[in-house]
Amino acid sequence: APRKLAAGNWKMNGTLASLAEIDQIRATPAECDVLICPPATLIQAVAATGIATGGQDCHANASGAHTGDIAAAQLRDVGASHVILGHSERRTDHAETDPQVAAKAIAAHQAGLVAAICVGETETQRDSGATLDVISAQLAASVPDCTTAANTVIAYEPVWAIGTGRTPTDAQIAEVHALMRDRLSARFADGADITLLYGGSVKPGNAAEIFAIPHVNGALVGGASLKAADFGPIITAL
Ligand code: 13P
Repeated sequence: APRKLAAGNWKMNGTLASLAEIDQIRATPAECDVLICPPATLIQAVAATGIATGGQDCHANASGAHTGDIAAAQLRDVGASHVILGHSERRTDHAETDPQVAAKAIAAHQAGLVAAICVGETETQRDSGATLDVISAQLAASVPDCTTAANTVIAYEPVWAIGTGRTPTDAQIAEVHALMRDRLSARFADGADITLLYGGSVKPGNAAEIFAIPHVNGALVGGASLKAADFGPIITAL
């Protein structure tokens, strides 16, 4: 069975003062894996607390002249176990393509990191009925052949639900997660065991309902992961 994961994506938020929240998050009783992906400046300090820690991006190359970028092995070196790849904000702000995301995932796997690969449709794509085609294409092209249930989790994050307070209906989430499970099971020997996360305006008030949807094995949480008072109840709901 897939492992359950409550993952926090802090995006470009947090300073050393935020370590107080980590201490409270660590104190939350959990029946699932708990992961925090802080900004790069905090990875070493967060990992040192003992909580599972991830980066928010890595470069596809192992080293070299890439000012401002971070290699997967460097994330691993400071204690990260995971890295988010292909988040819609990376795809939008940095024009990341599916093949680039796949190359980064291969680099992550080679460095011993779990790749948390994100997919999701825009509002225009949903309104035009293209959602399932978009998700299928993103899975096919962003998830590399070396994927296993041990080295990859997949997050479905509808772009229009991120930071908006809007969430899909349960039926819409169920439809996409069933499609992802089908595609991954058809392609990978242990695809049935790959952890599938939902992300986009997950809050304490909607977490339990979302976690009850078939093939939802956890959440990738943005804004509500910044404070233990919000993330704690989400962890507990899973
Ligand atoms: P919000 O939870 O703030 O909507 O962000 C979701 C997200 O993008 C997590 O990666």
